[in-house]
Amino acid sequence: MASFESVMAEHYPGALLEADFVDRSSRLLEEERGFSMDNTLACVGVCRDELGSSLPHAVQARWGWTFSLSTLAGLLFLGRTGFAAARRHAPIAGGRERYLFFVAPHIGIGAGGEIGVCSRIGRPGTSQACGALCAFLGELEGGRLELATDPGDIEHSLLKQRLLRELPFGRLPSLIDLTRAAYRAITGDLETLIGQALDPAENDWAVLAGIQIHAPGNEPWFWPGACYSEVRGRRQEISLA
Ligand SMILES: [Zn+2]
Repeated sequence: MASFESVMAEHYPGALLEADFVDRSSRLLEEERGFSMDNTLACVGVCRDELGSSLPHAVQARWGWTFSLSTLAGLLFLGRTGFAAARRHAPIAGGRERYLFFVAPHIGIGAGGEIGVCSRIGRPGTSQACGALCAFLGELEGGRLELATDPGDIEHSLLKQRLLRELPFGRLPSLIDLTRAAYRAITGDLETLIGQALDPAENDWAVLAGIQIHAPGNEPWFWPGACYSEVRGRRQEISLA
């Protein structure tokens, strides 16, 4: 019988409590890679959903005020201009600027292994996470996908346009698939933005990418995906095992 634990073991092996993810990765970056609260600007991109706020909150407690990359589903729609703003805000220490990028889409998983399910404080019954991805999935399942850019629904229009590029043609994705597609879009777009804006001669950075998971009771977990630092042009993985 499915359970939260069985879904986690099947789809998110290696996931850990989000607080431990932030703590372990931060400690490694401080002790081994030259990042500190004083010399680093941390940037965080999660869904607008208040449940996603646990990540920026934990990062802020560790690294100080954060630059927000957040839009619906955690996709990166801030573009070159938005990203360039962060580029001009980091401390300059020893002639170098340092950046951290914590990015993730999110998904709820119920006690019985229900996918996309979470609870909200003060609201009876269950709710959905990620609501923006569930809305997209609803359109796909209904066979009525609206792909035009709706000026009254800009972020969701962009989300659908961007995620379609990550989906195999002609096969209906599950919410697990769609969340994974969002993760791929986020990490790919972050790589592109970094490549355009940062210079290894002057900048050090680390990418902490994964998927945020809301466990029963809304306890935040985190599946670590691409996690690495690039210091003085040298890329090194961040292993949290
Ligand atoms: Zn969401």
